[in-house]
Amino acid sequence: MGANNTTPDAACPECTLVQDRYETGPGQHVLLEPRYEPPAHTIPASHRWITNPDRKATHTGDAELPAGTFCRISHSIVCPCNEEPSGPPVLKALWRYNSGLLAHFDPRAFEAG
Ligand SMILES: [Zn+2]
Repeated sequence: MGANNTTPDAACPECTLVQDRYETGPGQHVLLEPRYEPPAHTIPASHRWITNPDRKATHTGDAELPAGTFCRISHSIVCPCNEEPSGPPVLKALWRYNSGLLAHFDPRAFEAG
């Protein structure tokens, strides 16, 4: 294995799309949407996760995050096996991309400043 910073992959048990798996506590984990790390202020507080180099993820809840913080989101929000999410257009777009309804996902087209 050696020293590297890659995250172990895990397929979503519902849709089988490969996600980034992070520990959240003893024996617990969360699947985070891969390759998407939006500015935290563009994502509803309840959906924000912060990851650490030790492969642990923290749900930040309503915590105030420093300006310029980037976050991750749980795959379950945008899993195509779940209902289309409410909330910001970027989450809807990612859900549509995961569902195969959208050929490309370009978050910059949806992230409000
Ligand atoms: Zn899924």
